[in-house]
Amino acid sequence: MSDTAHTHQEDEFHSRLDTGMWLKLFRRARAMPRYLVPLIATAIFIAAAETTLSFMNKWVIDGVDRLGRDAPFALYITAFLALAALTSGGVWVFIEMAGNLSNRLAHDIRRDGFDRLQELEFAFYDTRPVGWLISRLTSDCDRLARIIAWGTLDIVWGSVFVTMIAAALLWINWRLGLIVLSVLPPLAFVSYWFQKRMLLSAREIRKYNSRITAGYNESIQGVRTTKTLVREAANLGEFKELTTRMLDASVRNARQSSLYYPIVATLGALAGGLALWHGGVLVNTRFLGADFTVGTLILCVQLAGMFFHPINQMARILTEMQAAQAAGERVLGLLATEPKIKDGPAVLERVKAEEPKAANRADGNTPPISALSRSVRIPPAPDGLPARIDTVEFRDVTFRYENGPVVLQNFNLTVRAGDTIALVGPSGGGKSTIVSLVCRFYEPVSGSILINGIDYRERPLQWFQSQLGIVLQAPHLFKGSVRENIRYGRLGATDAEIENAARLVNAHGFITQLDRGYDTEVGAGGNRLSTGQKQLISFARALLADPQIFVMDEATSSIDTETEQLIQRGLETVFAGRISFVIAHRLSTIRNAARILVIGRGRIEESGTHAELLARRGHYHELYTSQFKRERLEAALNE
Ligand code: ADP
Repeated sequence: MSDTAHTHQEDEFHSRLDTGMWLKLFRRARAMPRYLVPLIATAIFIAAAETTLSFMNKWVIDGVDRLGRDAPFALYITAFLALAALTSGGVWVFIEMAGNLSNRLAHDIRRDGFDRLQELEFAFYDTRPVGWLISRLTSDCDRLARIIAWGTLDIVWGSVFVTMIAAALLWINWRLGLIVLSVLPPLAFVSYWFQKRMLLSAREIRKYNSRITAGYNESIQGVRTTKTLVREAANLGEFKELTTRMLDASVRNARQSSLYYPIVATLGALAGGLALWHGGVLVNTRFLGADFTVGTLILCVQLAGMFFHPINQMARILTEMQAAQAAGERVLGLLATEPKIKDGPAVLERVKAEEPKAANRADGNTPPISALSRSVRIPPAPDGLPARIDTVEFRDVTFRYENGPVVLQNFNLTVRAGDTIALVGPSGGGKSTIVSLVCRFYEPVSGSILINGIDYRERPLQWFQSQLGIVLQAPHLFKGSVRENIRYGRLGATDAEIENAARLVNAHGFITQLDRGYDTEVGAGGNRLSTGQKQLISFARALLADPQIFVMDEATSSIDTETEQLIQRGLETVFAGRISFVIAHRLSTIRNAARILVIGRGRIEESGTHAELLARRGHYHELYTSQFKRERLEAALNE
C-alpha cells in the first residue's frame, strides 16, 4: 500500500529554482554533442530565419509597386520560399534531435540509476520502499530527460528569438522599439503567473483522479465487507468529497486556461497596437526625412506579435523545472549515493595487479559442476589469493541494523568446508542476520568475518558473492521458463548442464511432468509452482553456479511429504563438500546437520548435534518437543 502511495506522490512546487542542480542535469546533455550541437544550431537558425522572413516580407511589400518589372522581385520570392522551406527543415531537425536527446538522456539516467541500485547494499533497501525506487527510475527519469532536452531547445530558441526581435525593433527605430518592449515585462509576468497556476491545478486534477480510481477499486473489491459492516453511506460521503474537489480543480483549471489566452493575446495586440500607432506616426512624417515605409510599419507590427510564443515557452519550461525540482533532487541523490559495502582501495589494487595474469589464464571455459566433490580445480580468485574456501569464521562480531539495537554481540563461530550448520531458535533471535552477514549483505559493526583467516572485506566483494549459493524461504523465480530460471545461476550453462543440475537436486522429475517441461513459463514470481517446487528450482539454480558456500532459509509453509523427501535428498547433493548455513525449520534437515546452533537474542545458546542437544534437555529439547514434535505429528497425520 505504501509502495503505491509513493509511486503516485506529486512533488512540491519549488518557488526557488535550484540552478546548480539544473546545471548538473543539463550538463548530462553536453555528453551528447551529436544531438546537442545540431539542436542548438537549428534553434538559433530558426530564430534567425523567422526574423529574416519578416524582413523579407517588408522588402516585398516595399517593392510591390515595381511588381513584375524588376528581376530582384522574383528573386525575393524565390529566396523567401527557399528560406521558408529551410526553416521547416530546421524544425524537423530540432524536433528529431530533441526527441533523440530526451530519449537517450532518459536511457542514460535510467541505466546509471539501475547500475547504482545493483551496487547498493541491503541496508539501503531497508529504508526505501520498492515503489519509491521504481518511480525514480521510470517517471522521474523520463520527466527530467524531457525537461532537459526540450528545455534546452526552448531556452536557446526563446532567448535567441526574443533578443533578435528586440534588436531588430530597436535597430529599425529605437523609440518604437522601446515602446513595444515595454509590453514585454507584463507579458512575461502574466505568462509565468498563469502557467504556474495551470500546472498546479492540472496536478491537483491528476491527484484526485488517481484517488478516485483507487476509491472505485476499493469499493468494488471490498463490496462484501462494506455491505456486512453497513458502511455504504460513509463511503459515499468520502467519495463525494473527492469528486467535489476534483470538480473544483477542473473548473479552476478551465477558468485559468480560458483567461490565459485572451489576456496574453490582448497584451500581444497591445504591443502590435503600440507599434502600429507609433509606426503610423512615423510613416506619416516620412516626408520630413525619416525612412519609415509601409513595409517597415508592417514589419514592426509583425515583430511585436512574435514575442508571445517564445515568452510563453520559456515561462512554461520555468514552471516545469520548478515542479520537477524535487524529482531532480531525488534522481541526482540516487545517482550520487555511494555504496557502503564495496571493495576497498587495497583490494582494488590487488585485483588490478592480477588482471594481466588473469587475461593470460582465461580459456573461456566455465567450471563444470563439482556437485559431489570439491576436488575439481576452482577458478582462481581475481586478487591472486586462494580461491578455495576452507573456513568461515565469525570473530567477535557485533552487529546492529542502521539506528537499531544491537542484534549480535561478540558472536563467535567457525565453520569448515563440508560442515552443515543448522540455525534454529525463536523468531527474531538473529538467524537471518547471521546469514546476511555471511553473505556480506551487511558488514559487522565491530569484529570480523574471516575467510581462510582473512577478513572478507579484504577480498573482492564480487568474487566472494559469486561463491555463494542462496536459496531463500520464499525463493524468487523470474519471469520466463523453468530452464531460463535455472540458467540464471550461470548464464553460459548448456541445456544438458541445466538438466543435470535439476537431476542432482531431484527437480528433474517434477519439471518433466509440467505441461511444457523445462520450457514451462513460471509466471512472474513463479506463481504457478508450489513453494516446494520453487525451492527445488532454486537449488538447481544455486548448484549450477557451483558455490562454495551455500545458504538456505528453509520454507516454513507446509510441504507435502514427497516434495520434502525430494528436497532432503536434493539438499544432500547441494551440501556435499560445501560450507552450508541453513535456517532450519524441518526436522530432517536438523537431524542430518553436522552442528545445530540454537540462536536466541543474538547469541549461541546451545550448540551440538541433534542427539547431543536432546540429551542436554535444554533450549533445543524444549524447542524440539514443542515445535518439531508437533510438526512430526502433523506429517505423520498427513501420510
Ligand atoms: P530471525 O531470523 O532469528 O527471526 P532476524 O535476524 O531476522 O531473526 O532478526 C533479529 C533482529 O533484528 C530482530 O529484532 C529484527 O527485528 C531485527 N531486524 C531484522 N532485519 C532487520 C532490518 N532489515 N532492519 C532493522 N532491523 C532488523
